[in-house]
Amino acid sequence: MKPLRLLLLSTPVGPLGSGMGGGVELTVANLAKVLSRRGHQVAIVTPAGATPQALGLQPVDADIIQVQGSLQTAAQTQSRSAPVVTSEVLANAWAYARRHQSQYDLLVSFAYDWLPFFLTPLLSRPVTHFVSMGSLSDCLDRSIADVALQFPGTLGVYTQAQADTFCFSFPAEWEIVGCGLDIRKYDYCARPDNFLAWVGRISPEKGLEDAIAAATIARIPLNIFGKLEDIDYWQRLQPQIASANKAGVPIEYGGFLPTDQLQKRLRRSQALLVTPHWVEAFGIVAVEALACGVPVVAYKCGGPAEIVQAGKTGWLVAPGDVVELVNAIAKINQLDRADCRAQAEELYALSAWAERCEQWFYRIVDSQSKRRMHDRPYA
Ligand code: UDP
Repeated sequence: MKPLRLLLLSTPVGPLGSGMGGGVELTVANLAKVLSRRGHQVAIVTPAGATPQALGLQPVDADIIQVQGSLQTAAQTQSRSAPVVTSEVLANAWAYARRHQSQYDLLVSFAYDWLPFFLTPLLSRPVTHFVSMGSLSDCLDRSIADVALQFPGTLGVYTQAQADTFCFSFPAEWEIVGCGLDIRKYDYCARPDNFLAWVGRISPEKGLEDAIAAATIARIPLNIFGKLEDIDYWQRLQPQIASANKAGVPIEYGGFLPTDQLQKRLRRSQALLVTPHWVEAFGIVAVEALACGVPVVAYKCGGPAEIVQAGKTGWLVAPGDVVELVNAIAKINQLDRADCRAQAEELYALSAWAERCEQWFYRIVDSQSKRRMHDRPYA
């Protein structure tokens, strides 16, 4: 097969490596890395200020095209009926894609935004959308449904649970793409220290308060790592953190760390707590933990419920049930950390994921050239 020329359009919510875009940043970086190593030509469009090396991406892996402009507001901070707002950086990214599309075989969008879906039929090159979150916006749902109808097979999601959040009036064809990690970048740790970990954007939908409550009751210190996205929310957590500390259970914030440093800290934890208050599309941090041999205690909902093998590599508990969370923490020692690492190696290896993505991309490029052959222009 001829190598592909791919333009990956990263999330406009934040520069690649900033953490503002959440797990999608690591998804973009890993995909670029593995596809370029398989011989494809990869370029990434990202908001200016990107630090791709924080995600382990080397300059040889991809051309980085940094576009200027104010950042996009994250969809999860808006109501379902909020009107469409397009930031400068999103508009500039897609203006770049339109101007340079002839240099690529496929445009791969990671933006959870209306504009790329709206533009899809207007571009001459095919676009595939890696939809990074569950359904959050009525307006966006309508645009996604339009693309699903006009360009079947071009929509990807991380998990089935994520796809199920979209209720269209017809059965949409979702590509369940999953995700992969460069497992070799995560070191296995057989003997953890006495603390639990919580990793993610610090924002209300991530439910950090439940992890703090559970760690406090279990009387095990909690280390928190992640981007401080919502400062007001973080301030609201301070009394809870102060009373845990006062009760002798340290709750410590370790900052937002580059992937390599994060895994050095994460791997020493007893378990990762994943306590989202929304349908988590995937939860890449759960796979990062498993790769280090760290079991995952998660709410039985969304992506984490598809990742954790209950009783083997973690425990799944009813969403919002802190008492169940505490009971699950008490059973961490029943799990074998080697099984966690083995699951990550078996199911989330970068090469297998790259093959799936590659086949998906070839199918899309191929179906577009057939459309052209039948004199039915894409645009
Ligand atoms: N992360 C990081 N450094 C940190 C904490 C988190 O690089 O100190 C990254 C983590 O590796 C993951 C992302 O932040 O890629 C969080 O992604 P997740 O899928 O858990 O949630 P999202 O933010 O996408 O909802």
